[in-house]
Amino acid sequence: MRRLTLAAVLAMLLPVLFISVASAAVIRDFTFVPQDHAVDITFTADGYDSAVVYWSNSLEKGNMKLKSRDGIFSGTIDLPATYPGNNVAVTIKSSKGKELMKKTYVQTALTDIPAVEKAESGRLTGVTVCVDPGHQGVAIGLKEPMGPGLSGTHHTTNGQAQGTATRRMESVVVLEIGLKLRNALLEEGADVVMTRVDQNTPVSNVRRAEIAGEGHADLFIRLHCDNTSNKNKRGIHVFVPLSSTYARQVADAKTYRTYGEALFNAMSEATGVTKGGVTQNNSYVANNWATMPTFLVELGYMSNKDDDIMLSTEEYQTKVIQGMVNGLVEVARLRGLIE
Ligand SMILES: [Zn+2]
Repeated sequence: MRRLTLAAVLAMLLPVLFISVASAAVIRDFTFVPQDHAVDITFTADGYDSAVVYWSNSLEKGNMKLKSRDGIFSGTIDLPATYPGNNVAVTIKSSKGKELMKKTYVQTALTDIPAVEKAESGRLTGVTVCVDPGHQGVAIGLKEPMGPGLSGTHHTTNGQAQGTATRRMESVVVLEIGLKLRNALLEEGADVVMTRVDQNTPVSNVRRAEIAGEGHADLFIRLHCDNTSNKNKRGIHVFVPLSSTYARQVADAKTYRTYGEALFNAMSEATGVTKGGVTQNNSYVANNWATMPTFLVELGYMSNKDDDIMLSTEEYQTKVIQGMVNGLVEVARLRGLIE
């Protein structure tokens, strides 16, 4: 998780800024309107009636020739493999190859995923689930106590994974999956509490556990994506707490582990992913502070190219969400919350 220094960011941005300033007189009124896996652009170019638009990011690149109509250029950049949250570099050149504009845009912050109506009855009727998409898009930094009955503090920052292929931030991917999981749970008749529904609200780890408690959650599922220096590593992990005072009050360690295994097995069955497994430890602050069964789930490795791309596909998201729902149903049964 290497963080860019301010100097490094400025060094990258300065050439872009200078080129933009130098060519500002030619390209005017540039609009960049994100669509689903595409971007509509329009602009005017003083003195030109044709231009070539080039685009690129870490996943794909292309170009198209445009002719002006009544002085206005318009076209659609198709980005079949690019997900919301990716950067797209756009360069406009004259038909003779003179660079007229070069800028980088973010395709969109996040797909809007509105909540669905709660089903009148379903497998999780009467059960409240707290869904916790990990991290957020804004800076956070504080020391938090590890947990009740545990020693030490944890320095909570906004350090998070970034996709090696997609360049998407972990906080974007888990929010997207979290909002879809919320809907899948509502369709099973569950009540759902979210710890966050946007990128702009900082939430500490202790606060995440408090939100679950204040919402009277019966079950608490926490969504993350993994990151490691071994680029080949893949798989799903489920982390359950071990020995905080609160964790012991929820269940003895052996029972807690069986809950974690029920969740992992359901996720493995739904996705076909067999690598990974259940780990029980005191490493995660919000796990230690939870007063209900809690599970920190690593949905795949953003440091692995295949996992990273898979995590943003509709197909894998649907399967892994179904696995989590099935696993939570099984835990609810083991817990005596449902029959
Ligand atoms: Zn994380």
